[in-house]
Amino acid sequence: MENLHSTEKFIIPSILGLEKEELNKIVAQLGEKPYRAEQLWRSIYKECNLDFSDITTLPKNFRDFLSKKFRIGTLEKKIHLNSADSSTTKLLFALSDGELIESVLMRYTSDYGKKGRKTACISTQAGCALGCTFCATGQQGFRRNLTSGEIIEQVLQLQKIALEEDFMEVQQGIRKKGEIQGITNVVYMGMGEPLANYKNTIMSLRNIIDNTGINIGSRHITISTVGLVPQIKKLSHEKLQINLAISLHAPDNKTRSETMPVNKRFPIEELIDVCHYYVQKTNRRIFFEYVLLQGQNDSLSNAEKLGKLLNGLHCHVNLIPVNPTNNGVYSRTDDNASRSFQGVLKRFGIPSTIRLEKGIDINAGCGQLRERVLSSN
Ligand code: SAH
Ligand code: SF4
Repeated sequence: MENLHSTEKFIIPSILGLEKEELNKIVAQLGEKPYRAEQLWRSIYKECNLDFSDITTLPKNFRDFLSKKFRIGTLEKKIHLNSADSSTTKLLFALSDGELIESVLMRYTSDYGKKGRKTACISTQAGCALGCTFCATGQQGFRRNLTSGEIIEQVLQLQKIALEEDFMEVQQGIRKKGEIQGITNVVYMGMGEPLANYKNTIMSLRNIIDNTGINIGSRHITISTVGLVPQIKKLSHEKLQINLAISLHAPDNKTRSETMPVNKRFPIEELIDVCHYYVQKTNRRIFFEYVLLQGQNDSLSNAEKLGKLLNGLHCHVNLIPVNPTNNGVYSRTDDNASRSFQGVLKRFGIPSTIRLEKGIDINAGCGQLRERVLSSN
């Protein structure tokens, strides 16, 4: 620990994650005109430049000066994997202190006649303290919170890949120039619990939404939480039009506590109460994630209980057959059983979708790539 502290002092700070006004201030303090701050902002957040030396629109002496005091990107790409069907790219990054995190780009082919969506799945913590038993990240324990800059950089790194592909398709005549879109959606569903890193998560959101930069509409952003009740309440007052997903994964306290230790702190009744509060305050529906674990939470009586629990709540349920992890104690619920479960929800008037996770062949599930790298070292 002693060592970590002494090296941390020498790490050059990153300007990623600073709010626009703060960046303006820094540029003014360096004696540059305000339009230079705008140029800098655009070249980072629109053009995805993560190194000052690539920003050739800025005068060389200003660039040199900036690079003595600051950095932009801090993530070091360790692994880049593409799934066999090319739909999914998974990146493993080392942070400046050597911690490892994962980010995933998922491509969808059809989207109501438009060019397919591209979704960035990003991490908010290295590891996670909440210990859900089916989750690879949860089994690795907590390392640290990511800074807002580290959260944003994941989007920029994936955006670079997404834009390069779009440009290539324009050259190949598959895509029109006006259809260059890069990343269209962001989900906070990688490693860690976003609402346990509340401040940095919200700061990162503001930069990702900013329409002079990355410009992802808030309705195209989803935060997934294990269900931290006080933070959900706080989030409902933020005036953000984002989507909120709650990892429910069980319809009663006994079943939920067996796989999700957090349920002992925030039992289902409190969680559902705050969900009603959230819907009332934001007028947004809630997405419930329900990972189907064979023999654990996937019976028809579980489905009935879930139907009753969510009755009257403006929501949508995503049923997700589990991605087996290394200590794989859970098996996937088969297609027929998943559909029967969905049928019961339908009887209760609760809309749901069965989602097969993308990128299974490259361990694209939460925390699985890091787990594999560490265990093969
Ligand atoms: N900590 C947050 C967000 C990260 S996890 C949360 O728990 O919501 C993102 C989603 O992946 C959660 O719904 C989580 O329960 C789910 N998940 C974790 N392990 C999984 C696995 N092995 N298979 C399928 N989904 C998994
Ligand atoms: Fe943490 Fe989410 Fe994994 Fe649970 S599912 S251990 S909250 S990352």
